[in-house]
Amino acid sequence: MQNPFENALKQLEKAANIMNLDKNVHAILKQPDRVMAVSVPVKMDNGEVKVFTGFRSQYNDALGPYKGGIRYHENVSLDEVKALSFWMMVKCATVNIPMGGGKGGIIVDSKKLSEGELERMSREYVRKIWREIGSDKDVPAPDMYTTPKIMGWMRDEFEKLVGHSDPGVITGKAIADGGSEGREQATAQGGVYVTRELMKKLNLKANETKVAIQGMGNVGGFMAKLLAADGFKIVALSDSKGGVYNPDGLDLDKVFVHKEKIGSLSGMDGVQNVSNAELLELPVDILVPSAMENQITSDNADKIKAKIIVEMANGPTTPEADEVLSARGIVVVPDVLANAGGVTVSCFEWEQNVKDQKWSEAEVLAKLEPIMVNAFNEVWETKDKYSVPMRTAAFVKAIERVASKIKV
Ligand code: NDP
Repeated sequence: MQNPFENALKQLEKAANIMNLDKNVHAILKQPDRVMAVSVPVKMDNGEVKVFTGFRSQYNDALGPYKGGIRYHENVSLDEVKALSFWMMVKCATVNIPMGGGKGGIIVDSKKLSEGELERMSREYVRKIWREIGSDKDVPAPDMYTTPKIMGWMRDEFEKLVGHSDPGVITGKAIADGGSEGREQATAQGGVYVTRELMKKLNLKANETKVAIQGMGNVGGFMAKLLAADGFKIVALSDSKGGVYNPDGLDLDKVFVHKEKIGSLSGMDGVQNVSNAELLELPVDILVPSAMENQITSDNADKIKAKIIVEMANGPTTPEADEVLSARGIVVVPDVLANAGGVTVSCFEWEQNVKDQKWSEAEVLAKLEPIMVNAFNEVWETKDKYSVPMRTAAFVKAIERVASKIKV
């Protein structure tokens, strides 16, 4: 398995060489400012105590408070959390919002916990890290297998510990708990704004474009629905157990109803079943990884048939695969740009909480669109300026912004 933090450092190195980054700043950016590894004991429903391990990595706060989600997954590791916090720093700087980079996680298969166990684990995690978070310090949010309800428990626990209200300590909350309108679909909506810009640049039409999406959670699910509403043909979709494919286009309503009822995509009529690995190699125009990192590697990069990859997951492509895709002329819209709509609306939520305001969904989307469109165009221009892939261009643009605030 690739080490995501080593991959992140390779990406940093590439950008640093192109932009001639000051070597002291480069040295500072090779490590997070602070990492926390904490023990999270939870009294399970059967009375036993199970001890989970949690992390929080605060990468850099030159542009604003650390910002980034909390992931509940069996494969969470310190290096994964560090890599994700690094990418958050790059992401916030790519879209030019006043936030730094952070990320957290707990090693757990949360599907095996009862709701009570999940709540006790989430509250205990906050009890371990609360001194280092807050609306002016570090603002967590949801990520894989964490939800608005979990964010609500975390906010509540934090406020009990500090003894005052601080709704901006965490974003991705339910609307009733101080969440923002539009946050639920924000990541996918941002991805759609960026995809529309790319379609214009490449002179492509949505209704002639076939799309395969890996993952159908918050990001992949909304991405499928929003792209379909734009006229794109969604031909493949998957969850953790595998996917479905119909070269003529999937009936999305049917797919989502089936997933809701059965909990997986197996046993559907009128579709071919494909594995997650097979989905990546289908004959489509756009591939949208929306699940885990390290999906496109040196093993399968030469077999990808899509001309465009819109990275909605974090870190789905390894640096080695990037080289292969770039040599093959495949356009990769990097995660730090494609999925930045989520953190941008998280930043809007934080701003509303801090200023005690409430924006409508229309206002949120009206503010999101120009941020995503500007970021896309800046990255596109930087790509042309240095003749580099979009990922390197985004890193160059972002690191320029972060470096300008670091005094050495
Ligand atoms: P969710 O937990 O909502 O959904 C995850 C989805 O991925 C589910 O459909 C799950 O299947 C599927 N999945 C899990 N493991 C695999 C696997 N090995 N292969 C294929 N599919 C798999 O997560 P999100 O949608 O929130 O996050 C998805 C990605 O997007 C992550 O990389 C995350 O970091 C990134 N991201 C999320 C943001 C957000 O706002 N939520 C913001 C920016 C990035 P099943 O239903 O079977 O569990």
